[in-house]
Amino acid sequence: MNDGFPTGDLYCTQCGGELHPDEGQIFITCPYCTSTVYLDKSRVVFHWYLAPTLNGDEARGSLARWMAGNSTVKDLDKKSQIIEQSFAYFPMWYLKYRIGDSKEDSWFYPAAATSVTEISRIKLPAGDLRKYDHALEAQSQSPTVPLETSLKWLAQQGISEEQINERSLVHFPLYFFKYSYQGDHYSAIVEGATGEVYANIYPAKSEAPYRLAGFLAAITFCVWPLFQSWGE
Ligand SMILES: [Zn+2]
Repeated sequence: MNDGFPTGDLYCTQCGGELHPDEGQIFITCPYCTSTVYLDKSRVVFHWYLAPTLNGDEARGSLARWMAGNSTVKDLDKKSQIIEQSFAYFPMWYLKYRIGDSKEDSWFYPAAATSVTEISRIKLPAGDLRKYDHALEAQSQSPTVPLETSLKWLAQQGISEEQINERSLVHFPLYFFKYSYQGDHYSAIVEGATGEVYANIYPAKSEAPYRLAGFLAAITFCVWPLFQSWGE
């Protein structure tokens, strides 16, 4: 059996229908109920995507507003230069869990490597998830971090596997930017449905928080590969 491929009989998470993926196939539409599922090493999970509402120019506009805002150094929008812009549907594990009897909470965990770990703070706009469409595959990054890794990570936050009621894979529409400011290069991500900006390191308003942010990001960046290897 090839690596990363689920073993044994596979059933649709929605209707229970038996699935017969081709060798190596990981994105599947159930032939009985048309649910879209993703085949992780450990199980079959629902597969969603979020549709973008912003085009490339509008995403750039969101980034410019963030640069002109309070968290970054003054006039960053004017003093910086965008050197790269790309778009991809980026995979995130979506874990919903119960706390006590009535409360429910959820967490996102990156399903592929990224230096912008801030993306874990991503919020889902209400009611906008759609069944993953295979036409998006060319623009989608495949998951490289196993679901198991996100479950272990959640366990470390004190959430046991019994508390989890839903696991799924969500492909988010993300615009990836690289820009330069005073000779240094920075990364930022604009979420294409809400225009929300995510960045670990950026030229901040005052010197001290910037250094601290950079320091924390450096730690996160070093720890990140460890995170991933826990799952193997
Ligand atoms: Zn089905």
